[in-house]
Amino acid sequence: DFTSAYFTMNEEDAIEYAKIVLDVFDADAELTCKEIGDGNLNYVFRLVDEKTKKSIIVKQAGPVARISDEFKLSPDRNRIESEILELQYKLAPGFVPKVYKYDPVMNCCTMEDLSDHQIMRTALMQHKKFPLFAEHITTFMVNTLLLTSDIVLEHKEKKELVKNFTNPELCEITEDLVYTEPFFDCPRNDVTEGTRSFVEEHIWNDEQLKLETAKLKFEFMTNAQSLLHGDLHTGSVFIKEDSTKVIDPEFAFFGPAGYDIGNVLANLTFAYVSAKYTIENEKLDYMNYLEDSIRDIVDLYKEKFLMLWDEKATEKVASYKGFKEFYLDGILKDTAAVTGLELCRRIIGIAHVKDITSISHEEYRVNAEKICLTAGKRFILNRETIKDGSDYVKVIRESV
Ligand code: ADP
Ligand code: MG
Ligand code: MG
Ligand code: MG
Repeated sequence: DFTSAYFTMNEEDAIEYAKIVLDVFDADAELTCKEIGDGNLNYVFRLVDEKTKKSIIVKQAGPVARISDEFKLSPDRNRIESEILELQYKLAPGFVPKVYKYDPVMNCCTMEDLSDHQIMRTALMQHKKFPLFAEHITTFMVNTLLLTSDIVLEHKEKKELVKNFTNPELCEITEDLVYTEPFFDCPRNDVTEGTRSFVEEHIWNDEQLKLETAKLKFEFMTNAQSLLHGDLHTGSVFIKEDSTKVIDPEFAFFGPAGYDIGNVLANLTFAYVSAKYTIENEKLDYMNYLEDSIRDIVDLYKEKFLMLWDEKATEKVASYKGFKEFYLDGILKDTAAVTGLELCRRIIGIAHVKDITSISHEEYRVNAEKICLTAGKRFILNRETIKDGSDYVKVIRESV
């Protein structure tokens, strides 16, 4: 019975669930199911009708994080994920999976199967190139971020959305894991032995850096600027040559727009640093491709932002001379800062990235980690002056 009380499903349950609750398969379908989740928080079931090869995904929120049962999380995050996917489907057509059903009892979201795409982090670690990614992700971000801001939305309608997407538990994870724990010697951190003295000297003992992270933490908690994805790393992007789909927006809430952009840029930087230590042939070619992507994402975002503002702004003061540039400038500062925070927290904090952990040679991994921290610190401290795509490339090159 799937209608009275929530329980976490196994593969057999998911098949029953599809037969009884979902009306997507034929009555005589021959269903098979595999749990394919690789994330920290949820169960992802892929259901296939072996007769017709029709397939769907059922994502169920678990009651505790798989990474550590210290994180107890309300399964209501699945409502947030389902609702924001439906909203983003309208705001940025073609860039998120189609949602077929949200189930508030089982805390499940049934959606389009994107198995013909590949998780971008994996693809980048295989040194694949996606020349359309910068174009796609900037359209996704500018549409979902600017169109959910007070510049475009009627203010009372926006405040209703802010209420609907209040996400206190997942925000607390970000506040702790991104903005707080990496910047002191917190027991939950996970620092590679060879990197530890560098972290002590250059991160934990730097009072100026700590002060900046405090300012940024309060910016994150109090600036309800735009409806963020909230977890926009390369593991939340499904990609193939001609298509980009953003998944897993369960951290969504109204926060500073630069948070999403900075996450994308930092995660491309991990791929770049990883490439330096893992590629033998055509290394520079691949690193150049990643530099171009980083540069293009910043510059295309700015260009598309200014165009969309002119087209869609409804707020009276949006047309005052200089305001558009002032507002964009604030987003760019946050973008640089978050790029830096993400670069630091994935090296020091509890949740690392495969791009770096898969560098098996110990000395190379330590070098890679120090590069990320050096760049990360520069992005945070110099965020006022990092404005163009070329500024990003410069910071990264100077840190390598
Ligand atoms: P989590 O919140 O636990 O990180 P994700 O939404 O990132 O969950 O999904 C975990 C994994 O499940 C993804 O990396 C991907 O391999 C698979 N997955 C998720 N959604 C889909 C989908 N719509 N189509 C195909 N595979 C999916
Ligand atoms: Mg995920
Ligand atoms: Mg995942
Ligand atoms: Mg997730």
